[in-house]
Amino acid sequence: VGTRSDCAQTSIKVIVRVRPHNEKELQDNYKTVVKIIDERMLVFDPKEEENPFFYRGVVQKGRDLLKKQNKELQFVFDRIFDMTSSNVDVYEGSTKELIKSLLDGYNCSVFAYGATGAGKTHTMLGKEGDPGITYRTMAELFAQMESQRDTRDFNLGVSYLEIYNENVQDLLHKVGPLHLREDSRAGVIVAGLKIITIHNADELLSLLAKGNRNRTQHATDANQESSRSHAVFQVYVNVTSKVDGQVKHVKLSMIDLAGSERASATGCTGARFKEGANINKSLLALGNCINNLADGIKHIPYRDSKLTRLLKDSLGGNCQTVMIANISPSSASFEDTYNTLRYANRAKKI
Ligand code: ADP
Ligand code: MG
Repeated sequence: VGTRSDCAQTSIKVIVRVRPHNEKELQDNYKTVVKIIDERMLVFDPKEEENPFFYRGVVQKGRDLLKKQNKELQFVFDRIFDMTSSNVDVYEGSTKELIKSLLDGYNCSVFAYGATGAGKTHTMLGKEGDPGITYRTMAELFAQMESQRDTRDFNLGVSYLEIYNENVQDLLHKVGPLHLREDSRAGVIVAGLKIITIHNADELLSLLAKGNRNRTQHATDANQESSRSHAVFQVYVNVTSKVDGQVKHVKLSMIDLAGSERASATGCTGARFKEGANINKSLLALGNCINNLADGIKHIPYRDSKLTRLLKDSLGGNCQTVMIANISPSSASFEDTYNTLRYANRAKKI
């Protein structure tokens, strides 16, 4: 491993996290439609346990012909976290190992994908007293930098922006819309975005909380609106070797994506995402980029959206990507879960 030019294979890890049932799902007597077999395999819409119908002591077959067939689809992922898993478990089994790659010179990106209410923000940001994986990953970065101080100097900055309706806003300074610019040396840059220096992960907590409060929300339907924005947290690290003076610039991006419920795949494998009036452009473009990367297609349509332009140097090529697909276990979210699992399944073919 070394600098960016000696291109390693693109790596994407696809992880599924199932959140616990919420009150409504419990009260309204929905079924569980996700059966976890082990750490890597799950069955979506499993056959229900046989409940034989007896007639005069004999099991009758085919009594329930009108009942919809269960899909009983088996999926295999790099890792599956069940509803009892904590943010610590998810962090340790997903992004913890990215930090080594980052400091070895690879750009890394982490996406939380899933429908609104599936647990994306819980996973990335967490809540008071139980920080999400962004904080935990950053704490690991600071720890590893500290342990390498003898041989390397580090320079670190962070930014936090939102993409809403294809407009980029700085979440820490409430300015925007900001424009993306191609820079021949630095790649894509966001003109006017404030880069902030932090010295430890704890400084990050208030920063993330502040940024999150600035996410686009309208009092009338807060969840509706915030679910359409992508929150992009980025860390830029300059690593200078004390041995030979060589400098590396690396970037870690952690993205709480817009709700996927408006960007469902239209068919199974190979289907393009269908664009509609209300469909999130950046989410569609991300799906298409990931599909092309998965299929080994040379042309990757990074230019199709703000999100994919911004992440051009962090997706594909010499990068490490972690996709965390968040799902509800309940039949209340049957279609969303089905679509999320298929999306995640396509991504893992990279
Ligand atoms: P999203 O960001 O995908 O819209 P949230 O992360 O806001 O979804 O989760 C929706 C609700 O479910 C929140 O109240 C959140 O606290 C809760 N929740 C999500 N995932 C979990 C989990 N793994 N354990 C406990 N509560 C969760
Ligand atoms: Mg959210």
